[in-house]
Amino acid sequence: MRYDVVVVGLGAMGSAATYQLAKAGVRVLGLDRHRPPHNLGSTHGDTRITRVAVGEGLAYVPLVRRSHEIWRELEQQTGTQILTRCGGLVLAPAARGFDMHGTSSFLADTVAAAQAYDVEHQALDPAGLAARFPQFALAGEEHGCLEPGAGLVRPELAVELQLRLARDLGATLATGEQVLGFADHGSHVTVRTPTRTVEAAQLIVTAGPWLPEVVPELAPAVTIHRQVLFWFDLRDPASYPLMRNGPVYIWWPGGDPSEMIYGFPMVDGPAGGAKVAREQYDVVTTPDEVDRVVGADEIEEMYERCVRPRLPALSGRCLRTAVCLYTVTEDSRFLIDRLPSAPNVVVASPCSGHGFKHSAAIGESLAQLVTSGASAIDLSAFALPPAG
Ligand SMILES: Cc1cc2nc3c(=O)[nH]c(=O)nc-3n(C[C@H](O)[C@H](O)[C@H](O)COP(=O)(O)OP(=O)(O)OC[C@H]3O[C@@H](n4cnc5c(N)ncnc54)[C@H](O)[C@@H]3O)c2cc1C
Repeated sequence: MRYDVVVVGLGAMGSAATYQLAKAGVRVLGLDRHRPPHNLGSTHGDTRITRVAVGEGLAYVPLVRRSHEIWRELEQQTGTQILTRCGGLVLAPAARGFDMHGTSSFLADTVAAAQAYDVEHQALDPAGLAARFPQFALAGEEHGCLEPGAGLVRPELAVELQLRLARDLGATLATGEQVLGFADHGSHVTVRTPTRTVEAAQLIVTAGPWLPEVVPELAPAVTIHRQVLFWFDLRDPASYPLMRNGPVYIWWPGGDPSEMIYGFPMVDGPAGGAKVAREQYDVVTTPDEVDRVVGADEIEEMYERCVRPRLPALSGRCLRTAVCLYTVTEDSRFLIDRLPSAPNVVVASPCSGHGFKHSAAIGESLAQLVTSGASAIDLSAFALPPAG
């Protein structure tokens, strides 16, 4: 059977693209080497931060806005909540550079994005932050940008729902089937797996941290980094309402940049713990080689360095950890484009630690790109350099 489109990788981006293609009536085959949602790539750990005032760059704002609309549509269709608007807070010393996801002024750029796109937000000074957020032990210099419409999304649920709906709409999904290679023959593409060679008019590759393996020519453009998520217990159950009802946050207290943390309110009940994490870019890995075990030393270091000084309601008892992978470009910019060497192949590598909030709209944009030749949202900021 020949398909209109094959999608390789059914994680955050591929499940969204497959759903949108099936919705558009396109004959689509989705292939994944694992069984998504799974915990081996970049789309697990229960929650992701979403914010419309995106400090990473103004080109991203239409994507997150459209993603919120799509998730609301999915919620209405399925009766399942994906997006929780609990508010989002970015905190950092106002006068100092805050390096994050390719910008050196993340707090200022967040405020600039809010202003440029008329996103509701409040600027808070150190006294205002201390009065309003007693759960945070501030270093003292921080200013904040609070976006009430920001919040969290459920990544595994979004993947599951989009795949289910895609199948209901006629998509063919094959999981546990690894793509070994592909070729663009000009008039069509072929995709090779251990058991068959599939023909399609076009191919979308959304392989997350496996991108270097699936598209070797893009290997020099990305590095893969191990990230650890921690869920810490409360010291005292009486603190639960305080830790349950706050915003998601991205917080650089202003000392060593490695003390930057981000976290979530305790949306999964007192037994679920408070999810806190930080980012690391020093150690490069691959999905095959990554150490998926989190050592007691890592937990203790995280607690002593980042949690105990800043989140006094949390104890050192770590209820759970998870290892997840960032696929990072040099400037943290997404890559979404046709492959210059294979124009029937569209690649999307939107991670660098900030992709999930845009995933539903990226799926729609990928579907538009292969069906009508252009995406309604301008993706030119994410173009690959021309071949040669
Ligand atoms: C710890 C962590 C925290 C994050 N926090 C946030 C956040 O708060 N907010 C935010 O917006 N973003 C965040 N992100 C980024 C976001 O989660 C990612 O951008 C997004 O999940 C990437 O999705 P993906 O579809 O590209 O990759 P994945 O979901 O990993 O999907 C890739 C899929 O391709 C499949 N595959 C790979 N190779 C093959 C092959 N050869 N054949 C067939 N299938 C294949 C894999 O099995 C996998 O299912 C975070 C990421 C991590 C790791």
